[in-house]
Amino acid sequence: MTCRMCLASNNHSAPISVATRVGIALGSNLGSNLGNRLCNIKAARDMLGKLMPADAQLIQAPIYQSAPLDCPPDSPDFLNTVVEILYTGLPHELLKQTQKIESSLGRDRIYQKNAPRPIDLDILYFGNQSLNDEVLTIPHPELTRRRFVLEPLVAIRPDLVLPGDSMIIAEHLQHLDSGEVPLSLVKVDW
Ligand code: ADP
Ligand code: MG
Repeated sequence: MTCRMCLASNNHSAPISVATRVGIALGSNLGSNLGNRLCNIKAARDMLGKLMPADAQLIQAPIYQSAPLDCPPDSPDFLNTVVEILYTGLPHELLKQTQKIESSLGRDRIYQKNAPRPIDLDILYFGNQSLNDEVLTIPHPELTRRRFVLEPLVAIRPDLVLPGDSMIIAEHLQHLDSGEVPLSLVKVDW
């Protein structure tokens, strides 16, 4: 069953809307300095916030810095974080929105695999839904294998259990043996 949060009005009338809790990973490793990457992450966060119903609060993890993984030589370090939004549309509609945000921040749709990019937005989970088609896989298939996703996600949703899974996200992080260099914490408040 889809996990839906009811945004009930505070006066016993009918609910005004239903929204799904959606986790989105943000990454940026293009920009001549850390400040540019931070700007890209903040701009994407602000645009994601505008996709939510009025008065809904976006939840955001700290920002971490990570060494690039499976990227071309000399790729700059990444800034990574995870946010959770409330979303009333469908998963494919959200993918269109996140791709629009990526484009508006200067990301070309055609590029070398894992090339440096001003922003990457990956949909990690969409309530309790599972889906897998040619454009969208939810939960994101790499979610539990990537420290740069798990560490920020654990900061905001340690007890999250993905659909079809039995372990909480915090346990996935404990069991992770990805050989990745530990992340460094860049900013808690941003
Ligand atoms: P990556 O995130 O692996 O660096 P891209 O951002 O270029 O690669 O995404 C490639 C494609 O992955 C997108 O065009 C999109 O259709 C697809 N995709 C599948 N599942 C997801 C998801 N959960 N979130 C975002 N994109 C996804
Ligand atoms: Mg992506």
